Formats: sequence, C-alpha cells, structure tokens
Amino acid sequence: MPANDIKPPPLNEKDFGNRVGIDFSKTSAYKKETDKSIADAYAACKKYLSEKEKGATKGLPAVVSDLDETLIDNRPHFEKTPEFNWPAFEAWIKKADAPLLPKTAAFLQWARKNGFAIFFITGRREGLRADTINNLIKREVAYDGLLMRKDGDKGSAEAVKVPLREQVEKMGFTIVVNIGDQWSDLQGGHAYDCEKLPNKIYLVE
Ligand SMILES: [Mg+2]
Repeated sequence: MPANDIKPPPLNEKDFGNRVGIDFSKTSAYKKETDKSIADAYAACKKYLSEKEKGATKGLPAVVSDLDETLIDNRPHFEKTPEFNWPAFEAWIKKADAPLLPKTAAFLQWARKNGFAIFFITGRREGLRADTINNLIKREVAYDGLLMRKDGDKGSAEAVKVPLREQVEKMGFTIVVNIGDQWSDLQGGHAYDCEKLPNKIYLVE
C-alpha cells in the first residue's frame, strides 16, 4: 500500500499470543494476507524499475525489511514458550538457528538481483548483532546493511525505526518498499510503498 495510506486497525494486546499466533499462521487467511503483501511488494519494485527505464527516478533504490516475523521465522521458539518474554527470546536469538519465511526471503533475493539494496531495520538491540548476522549467514541471506536499536534504547519501535530509515535515505537511497509484520515497522513515512505481513503472535507498538 502507498506509505501515506497506512491506517492500522484498532489493536488490542489481548488478541495476540504465542498459541493464537501460531494457529493463525496455519490458516488460509494468513496465507492470503502474506501472498497479497508479497505480490504488492514485487509490483512496487517492478513499477519503480519501469520508471527507472524512462529516467524518471533518482537515487539508488532500496528495500527496507524488518527481521523478526518478517524474514526470520521464530515459531520454533514460540511453540515451546507459553508467553512472550525477552530473556527466553534473546536466548533463542543467540542460537542463531531460526529458519526464514520463504516468501519474504525469495522477494528480497529477487529485489537484490534486480538492483535494490537490502537494508534490515530491526528492533533487536546492537548487542545481538553478531548472533543476528550468524543467523543470516547460516540461512544464506545476502543484504547490504543491518540497522539496529541502540543498546538500552527503550523507545517505541516507530521512534527507533523512522530515524534509521532516514539514515538509509541520507546514504543516497530511495526506499521503494518497506516491509514488516507490525504497523510500527511502517508508520512514519520514508518509503514509497509499505507492506504489512500478518502476525498475531505478538504486538509491538
Ligand atoms: Mg517483526
């Protein structure tokens, strides 16, 4: 969807949870939502490429993607824990063994082959950088930058992520697509197109 059209539905934390989210991720509604967002992400990139051929673009094109529940699939961890808690989640991150969500992985790989730089903007803190990189290497993910929350920063996801997208733009990139599983990944502009993936495991505001 165009970045200016973002209108999150009313959200209530009690509608989210490990079990409810994992069960939802096995439904046709989840698949439909994912497929639509991924198809729209490809379409936005293809539109940019056709405009580029006409000389109607400026800057270097980039795709910004969130990691958790956007590219990285943490369901093996959430299957084993009754409810979200940070220490357990960080212990899982440190194993650097999470699988990928294949549709996002394929989209990012396609985009990179077609000239888009790939920047990951994640709420994971800097202290988890090495573990995060190890996980991406293990899953053979090619990318151009990994921008993370500063250690000790307790700001909202939006407050953390908007300045990081600005940082990408200051490097000379035009963010064509910003994709994430939380509305807070997408709010605040700095992208032409935003794509929301489904996630009912947890809510990040
Ligand atoms: Mg996420």
